[in-house]
Amino acid sequence: MNIHEYQGKQLLKGYGAPVAEGVAITSADQAEAAAKQLPGPLYVVKSQIHAGGRGKGRFKELGEGAKGGVRLARSIDEVVANAREMLGNTLVTAQTGPNGKQVNRLYIEDGADIARELYCSLLVDRSVGRVAFVVSTEGGMDIEAVAHDTPEKILTVAIDPEAGVTSADVSKINAALKLDGQAAQDGEFLFPLLYRAFVEKDMSLLEINPLIVMENGRLRVLDAKVSFDGNALFRHADIQALRDETEEDAKEIEASKWDLAYVALDGNIGCMVNGAGLAMATMDIIKLYGKEPANFCDVGGGASKEKVAAAFKIITADPAVEGILVNIFGGIMRCDVIAEGVVAAVKEVGLKVPLVVRLEGTNVELGKKILNESGLAITAADDLDDAAQKIVAAVG
Ligand code: GDP
Ligand code: MG
Repeated sequence: MNIHEYQGKQLLKGYGAPVAEGVAITSADQAEAAAKQLPGPLYVVKSQIHAGGRGKGRFKELGEGAKGGVRLARSIDEVVANAREMLGNTLVTAQTGPNGKQVNRLYIEDGADIARELYCSLLVDRSVGRVAFVVSTEGGMDIEAVAHDTPEKILTVAIDPEAGVTSADVSKINAALKLDGQAAQDGEFLFPLLYRAFVEKDMSLLEINPLIVMENGRLRVLDAKVSFDGNALFRHADIQALRDETEEDAKEIEASKWDLAYVALDGNIGCMVNGAGLAMATMDIIKLYGKEPANFCDVGGGASKEKVAAAFKIITADPAVEGILVNIFGGIMRCDVIAEGVVAAVKEVGLKVPLVVRLEGTNVELGKKILNESGLAITAADDLDDAAQKIVAAVG
């Protein structure tokens, strides 16, 4: 689960991290009062969407010459004018996809005088099974280019879970970021704090880009991208309360209500499967025969007929889906339940695209009988290979 920058900063502030004062607003009428609460004379007006690259982003409705999604303002009037221009418009960034995201909220922040922009993130480094800091002196809006062109400028420091962030770790990070004097002292305070926040709140990513050294020599968290491990949300009611469903894919929200694992992709074949391994194999074989999956929905083991029907409806709701492949290996999951769920869903929402079904395992004969007697235009397949070829041919 992702949250907005302003929420991430509030969370980190609770741990003692240095962040600027700021006020979130949802209408331009609130801009003046928000800016008046800040010291000035420099303000920043920041679009709050669940995507990065806002600074270099462009508003769809405004001309090419218009400014991006993060703007500096040197007076309260400028804050208000920018807020009027930005709110309600669609910001397209390198991370939003071509459709962009509507900006419904702005964060008005006290502006900082920046001496240097650094990069600092924490993530779960699976190769070493530890939480790791990833840091670079080359922070700011071009970190992707740095990672691509000069990867040697990025340093990873993995943290021993028993010891936590040691002073040796801090020294490594400070050295990598070329911090000294007051900034290095700020680092001694900041890096252990970020680690603590990451672990205590079950984050999966905490990205601060940029972490800045200000003209006065102090560190400040200037941007914050925070993602949480969805499997740990049950123990963080405070984090769940930060969820902004308007930023999420409606189909993924519906799927999470049914406890279904649904992932949207870019192709045009919808996939209903059970189990992650079968999902991967199904997508691989679709690609092998020259097509791309539009999504996959994993109904897991032991799903009810209603849950299967919900999964089927979620898959068909995607306008990009031109064909559906149901590929089920019934172990705990019974093939007759899958068949009943598919039939119930099709009767409710109709079937406008080709449907290929491959069932194997528990109660497979009964499942096939239910599908055959349903009168629906379903193409039966014998095995995975046959199923993939049939759906690829049907989509054309
Ligand atoms: P992103 O483009 O979505 O990553 O948004 P950021 O919050 O990282 O802001 C983009 C850029 O705006 C930063 O890299 C800075 O160069 C600039 N910026 C943001 N806040 C301030 C500020 O307080 N003062 C100054 N001078 N620049 C800022
Ligand atoms: Mg940034």
